[in-house]
Amino acid sequence: MCYCLPFRCFGGNVVLLIQAFRKKFIIPEFDSFAQKIDEIYKTVQKQRDGKVADYIPQLAKFSPELWGVSLCTVDGQRHSVGDTKQPFCLQSCVKPLQYAISVHESGTEDVHNFVGMEPSGLKFNMLSLDEEDKPHNPMVNAGAILISSLIKFMEFLKKMAGQEYVGFSNATFQSEKETGDRNFAIGYYMKEKKCFPSGAEMIDALDFYFQLCSIEVTCESGSIMAATLANGGICPITGERVLSAEAVRNTLSLMHSCGMYDFSGQMAFHVGLPAKSGVSGAILLVIPNVMGVMCWSPPLDRVGNSVRGIHFCQELVSQFNFHNYDNLRHFVKKQDPRRQDRDDRNQSVFNLMFAAYSGDVSALRRSALSSVDMDLKDYDSRTALHIAAAEGHTDVVKFLTETCKANPFVQDRWGNLPVDDAIQFGHEDVVKVLRDYQQDWKQRKKQPGETEHAQKLDTFEGMV
Ligand code: GLU
Repeated sequence: MCYCLPFRCFGGNVVLLIQAFRKKFIIPEFDSFAQKIDEIYKTVQKQRDGKVADYIPQLAKFSPELWGVSLCTVDGQRHSVGDTKQPFCLQSCVKPLQYAISVHESGTEDVHNFVGMEPSGLKFNMLSLDEEDKPHNPMVNAGAILISSLIKFMEFLKKMAGQEYVGFSNATFQSEKETGDRNFAIGYYMKEKKCFPSGAEMIDALDFYFQLCSIEVTCESGSIMAATLANGGICPITGERVLSAEAVRNTLSLMHSCGMYDFSGQMAFHVGLPAKSGVSGAILLVIPNVMGVMCWSPPLDRVGNSVRGIHFCQELVSQFNFHNYDNLRHFVKKQDPRRQDRDDRNQSVFNLMFAAYSGDVSALRRSALSSVDMDLKDYDSRTALHIAAAEGHTDVVKFLTETCKANPFVQDRWGNLPVDDAIQFGHEDVVKVLRDYQQDWKQRKKQPGETEHAQKLDTFEGMV
């Protein structure tokens, strides 16, 4: 990373610069996070399954060895590993982008006059409409062809990518058109059913759809597009608002339910993040409010998703608590690389100390259940256990020791342990509890491989 270098090194990334000065990145330990991403990348690289799409030569030419992952956080921190500078076509990954732009331009209601928002339960290129004779959703071909009659495009994509690489493969466009019988069939079917807005030419919309599929990005530029979606429509590199919050929210919802072909339900279940894949082997993955990721590896599985891409997504959420329904407060078996706010910490310290001072076991239990570190120290390096011991609150001391396994050997700024405070203020009951507990503490052996915090929380969960 270059955020400690002079201004010109930032290359105009205003957002990164501001956050660097504030020391407030969404992922504070970015280097170690990036290292873990590299490890996942290497593990996933061993996957040799899948078959590169070969219905057109422009896709068939890619080596199955190609494998790249780029990520860009909502505050512009970036990391890339593997083949991340090589252009490839967006193919179906363009669908959420075109949908987002059309909602941004025309609003949800106008767009959804023409296209639904339900998963189709059918293959992405089925000749099928819903019971109102609309395409099921914007992530299947019929929906995307229809939306192609609604919008203007390229400028938006460049803005989403922070002006980084967005190209066009004319050869792919020609091939898509030549081999696009199914898409022509969908077009004519929708024309027959009067799906298109008045004045729109079906053939022009189809032509535009083929062009959209042929737009090229790299993992690097694609990850910025994904990050713009993760960041509510503001490009993290330029700070420019490209899409409305409404457009982004709609898009993420539909990516979540319909973005991964016939694997969409399983993806929502196992990974729990909005994503969109394409036949080029690309997966555009969004971790809302954290980062955007572009994975690319051409070999596809049976339903058309990149084999390595899917594995990467699964590995990512097995290590980090990014699944939409991962519990952020009590689930200690996964890591949370997100920033913990300083203000949150101060509030926690205050709550702990006040509860310990006033003998409020219920308040302490609430803190413990919220995964607050019960050994937090105040300005004088005093813990809740010091305060409770000094005040002679035996029930609080028992709770902090027996249930929370608080550390009895923390010294405050005067070198005193909690038991010293109990002695000084003549609380004999508390002295006894703490002495016994100090013995226990010394004998207790840590389980191998478990963090102290995990060990404490497991014990705590077992006791409530
Ligand atoms: N050009 C392909 C089609 O419309 C896109 C396929 C895809 O990436 O899903 O059939």
